[in-house]
Amino acid sequence: MPLPQPDPVIDDADIRALFDATLAAARAWHAADPVQRNFVPWPDDLAYVPRPASQVTGLAHLLSDPGEASEASLALRDALLAVAPFAEWRLTYTEDEVGKDFLDRFGWFELAGPEGHFRTLQTRMTIGFWGAGLHYPWHDHIPEELYTIVSGGGRFMADGEETRNLGPGGSRFHRSGQRHALTTLEAPILTFVYWRGDALADPPRMSVA
Ligand code: ZN
Repeated sequence: MPLPQPDPVIDDADIRALFDATLAAARAWHAADPVQRNFVPWPDDLAYVPRPASQVTGLAHLLSDPGEASEASLALRDALLAVAPFAEWRLTYTEDEVGKDFLDRFGWFELAGPEGHFRTLQTRMTIGFWGAGLHYPWHDHIPEELYTIVSGGGRFMADGEETRNLGPGGSRFHRSGQRHALTTLEAPILTFVYWRGDALADPPRMSVA
């Protein structure tokens, strides 16, 4: 699938406006949900940092099928789709850890955080996308985590918890060090994820099989 070509008419101010609009949609998403508000207050130290776009092949999959949104998540989903070609996408994992198909149809970027498009040291807000029929293997990390589902859906697994299928508006909490995994079924999933606590810039640790 071809990657979207940057529009030469779009300049830095336009890109900044897209990130500002995305942050505003994220703030409304946070404000409307007591689970998110209780997990972490909206940061008060956000500062925009220009970062070069970095595209991954998963971006084309996201743009062609982001999964169904709910009425409440549509504004955030559409803001994320608009900003997605200008985001600094990352893969983090290796083919040995997750396989080639996963790397081809996955990607994440940090909207806000220590290394985000908006810098904050109070939390980390990342956007993750997985195409349909992928398995995100068991892993854990020091920060506590709250997944929220923006569009599509998936099956969430965690040590000591019931496995649950979640769709738009659903959320899932992971404790510090609690192992968890995610499988997408027939739909892709677009997630908005918060971290809080120490080691906000560290990558997750894959569990040894
Ligand atoms: Zn996690």
